[in-house]
Amino acid sequence: MEDKKKELRKIAGSSMSIMAGTLAFAALFSVYKPEPLTIMANAESADRAASRPGITSDATGTAVDDHSKDVVMENINKDVVVEEESSEEQNLEAEPAVVVAGDESSSSSAIDPALLSDTYVKIPKAAGSGKALVTDNYLYRTVYLDIDNASLKDYKNIIPVRVKKDKTYDGDLENVLLPPYITAFLSGADSSNTANQEDYDKADKSEKKSKTGDPLAAFSVSKNEDGSVRFSFTFNRLYVPALYEDNDYYYINLQKPKDVYDKIIVIDAGHGGKDPGSYSLDGDVAEKNINLKIANFMKDYFDGQDNIKVYYTRTTDSTTYLRSRADLANELDADLFVSIHNNAFYSDGVDGSEVLYNQKNKETITKSRKLAELLLKSVTETCGTRYRGLQDGSGIYVIHHTNMPSVLVEVGYLTDTSDLAKLNDDTEMKKCADNMCKTIVDFLGV
Ligand SMILES: [Zn+2]
Repeated sequence: MEDKKKELRKIAGSSMSIMAGTLAFAALFSVYKPEPLTIMANAESADRAASRPGITSDATGTAVDDHSKDVVMENINKDVVVEEESSEEQNLEAEPAVVVAGDESSSSSAIDPALLSDTYVKIPKAAGSGKALVTDNYLYRTVYLDIDNASLKDYKNIIPVRVKKDKTYDGDLENVLLPPYITAFLSGADSSNTANQEDYDKADKSEKKSKTGDPLAAFSVSKNEDGSVRFSFTFNRLYVPALYEDNDYYYINLQKPKDVYDKIIVIDAGHGGKDPGSYSLDGDVAEKNINLKIANFMKDYFDGQDNIKVYYTRTTDSTTYLRSRADLANELDADLFVSIHNNAFYSDGVDGSEVLYNQKNKETITKSRKLAELLLKSVTETCGTRYRGLQDGSGIYVIHHTNMPSVLVEVGYLTDTSDLAKLNDDTEMKKCADNMCKTIVDFLGV
């Protein structure tokens, strides 16, 4: 039996993300060799997978609910950035993911090493363990491996083996200084304090952070409510995970996003959770909700695009660190960062759209300005809002701290009657979002 065909039984590769939901999985097909990964994030994708020749699909999908705690801070009030701390329990809901299995009969004794990149984690498989699924929460560099029909006692003492560039790490993990928002996320702490952030920033500057080659920074094993066993891995950087298995191991293959995706953008819905942003004059409409609505309309658009991979800083009403938003874009080495906000004034009658970009970053200024111009044109022409012009956003945290061309779109004024009517009109905002997406696609030339 053991020396049967050396075919790999591939189960699922999924960077289907708790934050991002749907993956532009087709983008991966052109990258992975020798076999394409099949990654799905929703029923529609499952149908598409099921229709792919040679692939059998468990089209029922496997829902993964993540009840993660998130400790966050953000407060952008108009052009002034203040970092504040708050905390709250966050319910990040994963969209259902689908495990796609190869022909079960071709199960092999060992994985073909050519399938793995130079960085991966492997976990010895306990007898009788069932299907497995990988999902991730990329904002926190955390990847989950859920194993069906598994017993916690079989897995709880396992230290996963980490491999990076032919070096193998199989002992305890080194203590690595993680960003405070990740530490807080992992500990489920109620808050992460400023001192913690300052320590991290200091260490960042003095480069005293551990330079371990071990890709893994933290992991834990727990039992899910549905009885499956969950490994939670937090890595030292953001990877795109993919799951493979053979008779003896589960392998989580890890690739840098830019090695997987040609074009990557980050869409950032401003504020969220405990940080509402600004309000309409009557206090009924919070900026965070309008920002999220527009960003999710953009997500609807990009979900249908296979040639651009989009990461989202939030897709729900979650409180989200400013630092994590900028880190996400920088770690992805994203091509663009687009932040969605709305404006406010003290009284009615001040209206219109404006776009901010970093006028002090010499490396990105040309592209940022070009994108800012195009987006402002798109928004004002689509929504009929007043053209307020381009502004310097170099003092805005997420604009200042992102290394790539980045813009912040202030779609309209919540405090202006006419703008507010547009912002509340879903048909208008969907059109506005669609046209912003088209503008971005054109800008990237894909
Ligand atoms: Zn805002």
